[in-house]
Amino acid sequence: MSELNSNIAKLAPYVAAIGDTGILNHINGQAVPSASDMWFDTTSPVDDSLIARVARSDADDVDAAAQAAKSAFPAWRDMAAAERKRILHAIADGIEARAEEIALCECWDTGQALRFMSKAALRGAANFRFFADRAPSARDGQALPSPTLMNITTRVPIGPVGVITPWNTPFMLSTWKIAPALAAGCTVVHKPAELSPWTARILIEIAEEAGLPPGVWNVINGLGEEAGKALTEHPDIKAIAFVGESATGSAIMAQGAPTLKRVHFELGGKNPVVVFDDADLDAALDAAIFMIYSLNGERCTSSSRLLVQDTIAEEFEAKLAARAKAIKVGHPLDPATEVGPLIHEGHRDKVMASFDTAKTEGATIAAGGTRVGETGQFVAPTLFTNATNDMKIAQEEIFGPVLTSIRFKTEEEALNIANDTAYGLTGYVWTADVTRAMRFTEKLEAGMIWVNSANVRHLPTPFGGMKASGIGRDGGDWSFEFYMEQKHIGIATGDPNIPRLGV
Ligand code: NAD
Repeated sequence: MSELNSNIAKLAPYVAAIGDTGILNHINGQAVPSASDMWFDTTSPVDDSLIARVARSDADDVDAAAQAAKSAFPAWRDMAAAERKRILHAIADGIEARAEEIALCECWDTGQALRFMSKAALRGAANFRFFADRAPSARDGQALPSPTLMNITTRVPIGPVGVITPWNTPFMLSTWKIAPALAAGCTVVHKPAELSPWTARILIEIAEEAGLPPGVWNVINGLGEEAGKALTEHPDIKAIAFVGESATGSAIMAQGAPTLKRVHFELGGKNPVVVFDDADLDAALDAAIFMIYSLNGERCTSSSRLLVQDTIAEEFEAKLAARAKAIKVGHPLDPATEVGPLIHEGHRDKVMASFDTAKTEGATIAAGGTRVGETGQFVAPTLFTNATNDMKIAQEEIFGPVLTSIRFKTEEEALNIANDTAYGLTGYVWTADVTRAMRFTEKLEAGMIWVNSANVRHLPTPFGGMKASGIGRDGGDWSFEFYMEQKHIGIATGDPNIPRLGV
C-alpha cells in the first residue's frame, strides 16, 4: 500500500467517528449541541466531501460558555501554580500521544500538507510546555522602593477570556493562544474557525482527560458574525485574543468597545523578502520559495512580495519560476505533497481572482496561474513578475501560494517599497553586508524580521505585527502581559506624612 493509501486508511476511523457524533460545543466539561439545535457542515478541501455537521451556536450558547468560564475562574486563578503547571504538561503529553490523529484530521479539514502538519501537534505540545514552565513565575513583580514607600508590583489574571482563531493552521494557533491564557490563570472560551473546527474538539478532549477542571476551557462552534460576535460582546469576557484578517480585527474592536474589551490582534500581512545582489542567492532562493509556497501560502508570515535587486533579478526570477513549476501539488495526506488544496471554494475563487487581476494590471504570470484538476480546491504555485508595488497584487493579501516579484535598484528604493504597504508583520532581508542589514532592519516597518534566514519561531521572542498586521505580542512574557493585569501596591515604610486638611 502506498503511504497515501495507508494514511487515508488511518484517517478513516476518525472520519467515521466524527461523522457519527458531529462536532459539538464543549461547555463546563460537557460535549453539547447548540441550544437551538442548529448545525452547519464542515467539508474537506480535497473533494468537498462532508466531514461532519457542526454545532451552530448563537448568543445563548456563548452566554452559557461565558458563565461556565466565569464560575470556574476563581478556583483556577487560586490553584497553586505548580498544579497548573502539572496539568499543562499533562495536556502536552496528551497532544504528543495523539499527534498522528491530530495531523491526519488537520490535513483532511484544512488541506494542509502532512509534511508540515506532522509537526503541528508537536509544536502545539511545545507551546503548552513552554507556558507550563512559566506558570509559577507569571505573577512575579518588582520592588521599586521610594523614600516613603515600599512599592511592589504583581500581576493577576484578567479573568475569562475569548480566543478566536482562523483556519490556516488551527491546531497550532489555538495552543499558542490558549496555553499562555491558562498558565496565567485565566479561563477560556474558544471559538474556532467555522471552516476548520475539527482539531479544537480533539484538543479540549485531551485537556479534560489531562485533568483540566470543567469550565476552565470551553469551546463554542459557529459562524464569526454569530458566535464570534456574541463572544466579543459578552460582558463577562474580559479580553479577546484574535488571529485572523485585519478587517475582522477592526470589526471586533468595534464590537468590543461597549464592554471595553482588551484586544490582542494577530492579523494579515504582505511581507517583503528583500534580496540584495551580494546575498547567498541559493539560500535566498530556497527561503523565498519556502516562505510563500509552504502551508499552501495560507500563512500570515508568508513572504508574498519578493523585492529583488535588478542586477540579479532576471536569473533569480527564472530559477524561482522553474522551482515553482516543479512543486508537487497533491493530496494533503501524501507525504510527497508540497502544496495541498486551499481551504474552501470561496477562498480558491479569491486566490484565482488574483490571476485575472495580475493580467489586467499588466504583470506577467511566470509560473502557475491556473487551477489544478477539477475536483477540490487545488491551485498551481504561482509567480507574478514585471509587477510594481502600486498594483493590487502587491498590496492585497492573497493568502495562497502566490508570489509577486518587484525589482529594485538601490537600498533606499527597496526600503521604500518594503514599507509602502498597509501591513507590517514580517520582513526577510538577504545580504552579506552586516552594516546594511542593521541599517535596513532599523527602518523596516515590521514586527518581526529575519536576516539571511526564513521564519524560525523561538518561543521566548515576541511574535506580532505593526500597522494593519496587529496589536500586541505573543511569546515569552509578552503573552502574560496581555492575559494579566498589573497591580501596584505601595506600603508605607515610616511616617506617611499625610497633609492634614480641616484641622
Ligand atoms: P477571519 O478573520 O475571516 O476569521 C478568523 C476568525 O474570526 C474565525 O474564527 C471567524 O469565525 C471569526 N470571525 C469572523 N468575523 C467575526 C466577527 N465579526 N466577530 C468575531 N469573530 C469573527 O480570518 P481567516 O480567513 O479565518 O484567516 C485568515 C487570516 O488570518 C489572514 O488574514 C491571515 O493573515 C490571518 N492570520 C494571521 C496570523 C498572525 O499571527 N498575524 C496567523 C494566522 C492567520
